Amino acid sequence: MRKADIVIIGAGISGAVLAERYASTGKKVLVIEKRAHIAGNCYDYVDGNGILVSKYGAHLFHTNERDVWEYVNRFSDWYAWEHKVVARVGDKTVPIPVNITTVNTLFDEKITSEAEMQDWLERNRTAFADPQNGREAVLDRVGEALYEKMFRHYTKKQWDKYPEELDASVLNRIPVRHNLDDRYFSDVHQALPKGGYTQLFANMLQHPDIEILLDTDYFDIADSISGYEKLFYTGPVDRFFDFKHSLVEKLEYRSINFVSETHVVEFYQENSVVNYPGTDVDFTRIIEYKHFGNQKSGKTTVVKEFTVDEGEPYYPVPNPRNQEIYAQYKIEADKLPDVHFVGRLANYKYFNMDQAFKNALDLFDSLQVLPKTTAA
Ligand code: UDP
Repeated sequence: MRKADIVIIGAGISGAVLAERYASTGKKVLVIEKRAHIAGNCYDYVDGNGILVSKYGAHLFHTNERDVWEYVNRFSDWYAWEHKVVARVGDKTVPIPVNITTVNTLFDEKITSEAEMQDWLERNRTAFADPQNGREAVLDRVGEALYEKMFRHYTKKQWDKYPEELDASVLNRIPVRHNLDDRYFSDVHQALPKGGYTQLFANMLQHPDIEILLDTDYFDIADSISGYEKLFYTGPVDRFFDFKHSLVEKLEYRSINFVSETHVVEFYQENSVVNYPGTDVDFTRIIEYKHFGNQKSGKTTVVKEFTVDEGEPYYPVPNPRNQEIYAQYKIEADKLPDVHFVGRLANYKYFNMDQAFKNALDLFDSLQVLPKTTAA
């Protein structure tokens, strides 16, 4: 039998934050991780080309939350990194988010000011007072021509659904700019951890009262764990309940097939991330990790991302059908006073890294004053 005050399933962002917080209060913490490593999908390592790469896709940290920024700075130094993405549209390469350059390049316009850009958008958009899905959200902001060139097919490749089959929030993640700003994010803090994410997590979990079991599926050893005060579960919510409600309809997740290539050139592409929003290729984007932090190597590693149905779940799929199924699991989850469901997979919500930090920090704080039944 294993004993701990706090049991945490999963060593990703939510799990690591809760482990660190509880250990700091003198609790004995047991972290159970199915994979062979910590850091969840943020896991990175130096590959055979001497380049720091992320195993599960690029992770760009950005936040407006002062508390979160202060918290992550306790465990790593960070360097400023303003992420930029370009998209190959036919034979043209344009910035995404859409900005003045995007419109000028794709439509041979000569826009030079914010007012002209606003005017162009006004003439081209199809207004929706309250966009009900991803398609309406994009049409409302940029109109049909940009929707078709940059969003419709990319979304189909990413989700195996067209934007009209997804919540507006998915497509609203990306802003539309009325100026020349070509940054992907707008947050006050945009940075990457100096020693990489795995090191950041190792620092968070470095505490004598935190025990980590790697390569261990919680469901294989659940019977041997007892006497804990609280259990935090960060895996897929339906897995916890043995896919109970999926007997009727399955909760959907998207996974990614990462195909890595080595090229003996200094750089393969001009930018860390190049999106392919067309139907000419099956992958959504190519990541060249060497760009992050201006790394040096005689070679370069690029990774093509193919989004797929099967495989480890990375993305919940936000739409009304999945929300309905999730709501049934949530009812079950709320009945368990000592079990807390936290993070992107357990809450079935598509949120960013900083939100994952924030949710876990807030959950910890709320549980310090109120038990689950009244805190929820
Ligand atoms: N998207 C798109 N074209 C792009 C980039 C994004 O249509 O070139 C859409 C797509 O539906 C995607 C969503 O916007 O899933 C959110 O993009 P984001 O870059 O935030 O996705 P993530 O990096 O989380 O995969």
